[in-house]
Amino acid sequence: MNNPDKQKVGFISLGCPKALVDSERILTQLKMDGYDIVPSYQDAEVVVVNTCGFIDSAKQESLDAIGEAISENGKVIVTGCMGKGDDANSIMELHPKVLAVSGPAAYEEVVGAVHEYVPPNPHHDPYTDLVPPQGIKLTPRHYAYLKISEGCNHRCSFCIIPDMRGDLVSRPIGDVMEEAERLVRAGVRELLVISQDTSAYGIDTKFRTGFWNGRPLKTHMQQLCEALADFGVWVRLHYVYPYPHVDKVIPLMAEGKILPYLDVPLQHGSPDVLKRMKRPAAAEKSLERIQAWRSVCPDITLRSTFIVGFPGETDKDFDILLDFIDEAQLDRVGCFQYSPVKGARANDLPNHVPEELKQERWERFMALQQEISTAKLQQKLGSTIEILIDEVDSEGAIGRSAADAPEIDGKVFLDGVTDLNPGDLVEAEVTAANEYDLWAG
Ligand code: SF4
Repeated sequence: MNNPDKQKVGFISLGCPKALVDSERILTQLKMDGYDIVPSYQDAEVVVVNTCGFIDSAKQESLDAIGEAISENGKVIVTGCMGKGDDANSIMELHPKVLAVSGPAAYEEVVGAVHEYVPPNPHHDPYTDLVPPQGIKLTPRHYAYLKISEGCNHRCSFCIIPDMRGDLVSRPIGDVMEEAERLVRAGVRELLVISQDTSAYGIDTKFRTGFWNGRPLKTHMQQLCEALADFGVWVRLHYVYPYPHVDKVIPLMAEGKILPYLDVPLQHGSPDVLKRMKRPAAAEKSLERIQAWRSVCPDITLRSTFIVGFPGETDKDFDILLDFIDEAQLDRVGCFQYSPVKGARANDLPNHVPEELKQERWERFMALQQEISTAKLQQKLGSTIEILIDEVDSEGAIGRSAADAPEIDGKVFLDGVTDLNPGDLVEAEVTAANEYDLWAG
């Protein structure tokens, strides 16, 4: 219910989990400063739009959201990935009424702009107007994203994230652990570790030793995973590159301490294409690494993303990619057709692939991967799996297994099971499967 003494802010959050974490921080600060977050344009005194600038369609979605907020409310503050460089200029050109624009992770600037255009109630007392200790979460209460660093030291030729977010800055491990502890205390059952490059955690600080609960801990992926495992909740790793030191976290998965799940964005299988993409760990032998991981932890679920139609990709490169996919037998795969991002170095590469050929390659890729993923899920029939429940309605419950990250992977349907609650962890036998989802009972 709206509090008449509080100033009211509308908030639109677009983009990836990293942008979502930024939104949560901004919302937490606004709440601490005495603002009410309201769900309609009509009730809001100002609207904040957290934008995504990753690909052209995301930019268009952001521009549309800004336009709608201006026509419905009139007072709009823009932040996020589109709030930097040329994109910021194009926002102001297209929507000159926008009050203020700031870039990603610019918490103080956004909150400062809100204060400027809608000053907070001077009688607000942060000690009595409490924010929940875990901050404001936009994800359901039983899972939460844990951002461990900002920015990236790599310079992949198709990506402008380092231009937008800067070089890698790792959060102190003590801060990350404190946030994780607060989340678990508030009822979170699954922590999703995110960053641009999780395997690089701590490189910028030379793996500085920090403290948590009096215990020395290095700012390092392995030590972070070991410490997070102590909370006894699901811990899932995203955006990990196949560097040799990643091998050290696989035993933690085999021992059941963190989820046997690794999201490794490989992007291609052809060494020539990977070189032109300037991918991190391009020289590492990914197939051998995958085999070694599976020999230590046979149940590991591997997720990856790929790009087809990258400039200069030949028929031979594409065949190498299909062979790679066939051999790697990855569990979960996303595939995008290359699309030029303004400002990315890959735009200047020669021999762009025609659109029809990109589409044809994408279809061939997806057909092969669907076969693999269907066969992999069929292997689960008859096995008993643990399921974290996400939603329950009159028809049954829907959850996810250790193999499924929220939003991007499959679901597990428990038809007719209505006596559960979101956040419950249950065991059930897999009774049916299609190419992405499972049914259990
Ligand atoms: S690793 Fe590459 S794709 Fe990922 S954020 Fe860094 S530069 Fe971009």
